[in-house]
Amino acid sequence: MFTYAVVARPDEVSNALKQQTDDILTQHGYTLDETAPDTVLVIGGDGTFIYAVHKYIDVLDRVRFFGIHTGTLGFYTDYRDTDFEEFIQTFLNGGVSEYSYPILEAKTERGTYYGINEIRVENASRTQDMDVYLNGRLFETFRGTGLCVSTQLGSTAYNRSAGGAVIQEGLSLIELTEIAGIHHSKYRSLNSPFILDDKTEISFSSASLKGALLGADSEVFSLDDVTKIDVSVSKEKQVKMLKGRNVYYFDRLHSLF
Ligand code: NAP
Repeated sequence: MFTYAVVARPDEVSNALKQQTDDILTQHGYTLDETAPDTVLVIGGDGTFIYAVHKYIDVLDRVRFFGIHTGTLGFYTDYRDTDFEEFIQTFLNGGVSEYSYPILEAKTERGTYYGINEIRVENASRTQDMDVYLNGRLFETFRGTGLCVSTQLGSTAYNRSAGGAVIQEGLSLIELTEIAGIHHSKYRSLNSPFILDDKTEISFSSASLKGALLGADSEVFSLDDVTKIDVSVSKEKQVKMLKGRNVYYFDRLHSLF
């Protein structure tokens, strides 16, 4: 028996599509399972998709996500609300293929956190200094507001707002971007977005991260008692997404601006 759950953005259009999805899937013999479903149908935007992945982060190995956007095109979704009939029929007819995407993992003395778009270390209350290690070797000392490590999929999100480059789909890369870095005669760091091999292990270390926050997509955690953050692509977790049509990446990107 196939199981499903629906995660919808709380707006009128998304809620109406959620109701239709529930009705159609139930009629076709699917069973609602909010805890560990086979498939999560996501109705909303890229933000909703990320929320859904975090909601099922503990059972990612068994869940696949299939999304429809109730706005523009989106980077996690290939259908818009006007394509709902095609979206649901493609799913029911098994006309979907499964793809896996990497997730970033951040480990601190306090715990482990995951980012589908990005992991950020930010301090809005004072200048933050951090030593940056790449694969265990000291690379630079950063001073400023913070640093952002993004995935390829997240490169169009916060990373792009921080001046990072967009990474074309299909490339196994991550990106390290400064957030308001300070650069003058005394303080020097790369001052440029740095695109790295996705096997790179990045560490941030500081004598004090008081006031700093670790941002894992839309979730934030205090770094007050933390001195080191290790960020890398997770070896354990990946996001499995279903795709029913091929959207040309440059069209998707163009719809962003
Ligand atoms: P949110 O409201 O869910 O998202 C903020 C905006 O970022 C929405 O317009 C969302 O698109 C868009 N977005 C999310 N992932 C994207 C991606 N991979 N590529 C392009 N656009 C994307 O905000 P949130 O819940 O606080 O944070 C979720 C994510 O939003 C974060 O991971 C962060 O990357 C991004 N964000 C960016 C900024 C910024 O650029 N200054 C600020 C806050 C958050 P939809 O409308 O399709 O949901």
